[in-house]
Amino acid sequence: MREIFKIDKAIDIELSLPEKIERSLEILDLVYAKCQEQEVPMFVNFSGGKDSSACLLLAREIAGDKVECIFMSTLMELPGTVEFVKQEAERLKVTLHITDPIRDYMGDFSWWVRHYGYFPSFGYNFCNSRLKIRASRRYLRKIHGLKTMFRLNGVRQQESSRRKKMYKESPFVVPDGDLSGSYIVYPILEWTGDNIKEYLSINNFEVHKQYSAFGVSGCAYCPFYQKDIYFRILNAYPDIYDELIKLEDEIGKPAVSGNLYLKDIKAEFLANPEGIMERIGAPSEKIKRCKALC
Ligand code: SF4
Repeated sequence: MREIFKIDKAIDIELSLPEKIERSLEILDLVYAKCQEQEVPMFVNFSGGKDSSACLLLAREIAGDKVECIFMSTLMELPGTVEFVKQEAERLKVTLHITDPIRDYMGDFSWWVRHYGYFPSFGYNFCNSRLKIRASRRYLRKIHGLKTMFRLNGVRQQESSRRKKMYKESPFVVPDGDLSGSYIVYPILEWTGDNIKEYLSINNFEVHKQYSAFGVSGCAYCPFYQKDIYFRILNAYPDIYDELIKLEDEIGKPAVSGNLYLKDIKAEFLANPEGIMERIGAPSEKIKRCKALC
């Protein structure tokens, strides 16, 4: 990957949290100087999750109210997610942009599933690119044209074995493959999950309650969720998948990876909700790692 800033530091997971904070802030300082040259805000991809929240707090330390958040809505969020994001943006006094896949691009999830004739899969998770990435690209282009923009992304190498491989050699700033001429910044690439927890706690940041309830936040449906995540969500919102179940029937294909139909998952849950909830209990760290790809 091409690096635009000379940051003479390799990723070092072993550093202390204060050292990592200092390094992250140094990176953001350089990035913010570029944003000022371009007369663009410093953008943070903000999902309301822990990692993007840490990015937002770091960004504010450098750029204050010149930080702007982008929430890339799929229109399939768990109830309360958008409200949480709005509330946090307001509390932290940063401008929030919410992109919309219908308004800003071509259609919602159902539109794309009908268009392709199948649901997203490991090999092709078109929901991420069509609903989030392309919609946000058009949105930003409308506001800032062809200016060079910098988007902070809360990717961490330690998040999963997949990410360890993907970001093994990654610099902290890389060209944005989806927004030509712009850059993606990974300020917390070397942070661990414990670093994030500690940093959020130091900053009195309360994570969205959906994390502790379901082990995920963001999309209520994701083809990569395990059954237990669906069970927990169904327990709180029994009808939440009904539109997708209709879509499964319409195209005759399963929505969940492993050839699983949401209608069967719902039927299994409704046959014994108490027993299932007693068996699966609260989300474990292991389940939390089996979350969405984006
Ligand atoms: S969380 Fe899952 S369903 Fe939502 S956009 Fe990402 S891959 Fe698609």
